[in-house]
Amino acid sequence: MSKHIFITGGVVSGLGKGITAASPAYLLKSRGYTVAMQKFDPYLNVDPGTMSPYQHGEVYVTDDGTETDLDLGHYERFAGVSCDRNSNYTSGKIYSRVIAREREGAYLGATVQMIPHITDEIKSAIRSAAKPGVDIVISEIGGTAGDIESLPFLEAIRQFRNDIGFENAMFLHLTLVPYIKSVGEMKTKPSQQSVSILHSIGIFPDMLVCRTETPMEDEQRRKLSLFCNVPDAMVIEEQDVQHSIYEVPQELADRDMDAKVLQRLSLPLRERHLDDWHSLLERVLHPVRACRIAMVGKYAGLRDAYKSIFESFAHAGIALQTKVECDMLEAETLEGDCSALAGYDGILVPGGFGARGIAGKVAALRFAREQVLPCLGICLGMQCMVIEYARNVLALSDADSTEFSPQTKHPVIDLMPEQRGLSAKGGTMRLGTYPCRLKPDSLAVRLYGKEKISERHRHRYEFNNDYRKQLESCGLQVCGASPDDSLVEMVEIPNHPFYIGCQFHPEFQSRPFSPHPLFVGLVQAALKHQEK
Ligand code: GLN
Repeated sequence: MSKHIFITGGVVSGLGKGITAASPAYLLKSRGYTVAMQKFDPYLNVDPGTMSPYQHGEVYVTDDGTETDLDLGHYERFAGVSCDRNSNYTSGKIYSRVIAREREGAYLGATVQMIPHITDEIKSAIRSAAKPGVDIVISEIGGTAGDIESLPFLEAIRQFRNDIGFENAMFLHLTLVPYIKSVGEMKTKPSQQSVSILHSIGIFPDMLVCRTETPMEDEQRRKLSLFCNVPDAMVIEEQDVQHSIYEVPQELADRDMDAKVLQRLSLPLRERHLDDWHSLLERVLHPVRACRIAMVGKYAGLRDAYKSIFESFAHAGIALQTKVECDMLEAETLEGDCSALAGYDGILVPGGFGARGIAGKVAALRFAREQVLPCLGICLGMQCMVIEYARNVLALSDADSTEFSPQTKHPVIDLMPEQRGLSAKGGTMRLGTYPCRLKPDSLAVRLYGKEKISERHRHRYEFNNDYRKQLESCGLQVCGASPDDSLVEMVEIPNHPFYIGCQFHPEFQSRPFSPHPLFVGLVQAALKHQEK
């Protein structure tokens, strides 16, 4: 039977619950335990797929095509666990299942209620992650203690622990212990209040993880222990890391968090192997080179919208011991003038939706092509590469995607046939992992080192094959396609050192210990460009 750790958050949002949840997962794995992770999000959308990045940040896509919260990216990258459709549940997903069952008449005349029907559905979602062979399931509850929306989840985990027994489940509460400058003191009161909210609904945290800016004194630890009813040893400090989020597992390991968790769950304390992480951290903290990449996107103030891309650059940086500085440039600001791109060693145009910013992305891509600057286009970025090439090399001045210009005379990017006539927006894109075959003798195959790859997707539009011959004969090579050759997956310009686009999202598969070849390739090309 799996043991369970439930992670709640208190005081404020934005404390990095995802990373705090993924870190013990990594530490427990390093002691030989099998760990599964899942997240519960209290909002009513069935999944985050229909939400704006302003609301939600990036939508992370799993292999099986589930559109999920970006914390699942941390789980896969940091903890090295694989996520799937059982790894992210929203209130919307839980409620819609219960309501669908009610419509089928499955509740046999009962009044359908929050307790037990919604809470039972949540408990069955928790059990779905506890597959045979999984030693420990870590479930993160989104939101902050005190939110109305998260109450059913908290009630469900309270019941769940009663169902499976004290030694089989624990509650970990992540909280903030702020330093108040005017009095020169750290204050424990917000944490006390947040824990008392949990107490009032029957949840008694077993461990407090305290986010702090400065080191915590014994005095504060004692206070937290006393007022929050948590043993002194189970008050764990998580001080702000100096340089990189990769320091978090190390910091929690130094405080023996994983050993304390195992003891609480009555699991044997196996030996911990952290050598790989230590050497990774060494490389993160001591880069020997640096390069600057411009990311031309739409949400320039919002790093969370491109979380996996930043992480992929960090991974490539680790592999090449290079500090990759990736600045976000707002595409719209480049529309008339690309001079802001001068001084960068490479360009990345990420995925996206809608017409805003397209002219700026196309201008940036033209700049990269003509100025021979290394460039990677992802999803919408690749589609813009095709549009740019058709307009400026093939002289099809109105070439466009039907996403932005439904009546264009030259729809070089068009809706995929299976997407035609679909009106529903939720979960209807081409989602998840599909195979792709690379062209021998291409930059793509040299980067990957193999011809057959599989990558994660999230798109509705595709390269229009009616223009394939024309584009290829003018120098834009199709270097990757679906195995039946019907869907173009990658394009490149052979007489440019690094100009490559992909219809898929490589950033979802990059990992600290296995960086993605397209990101490594871009950083390598950027370093070479710098030497010129
Ligand atoms: N909007 C484009 C499409 O639907 C690209 C999507 C993306 O970049 N994820 O095909």
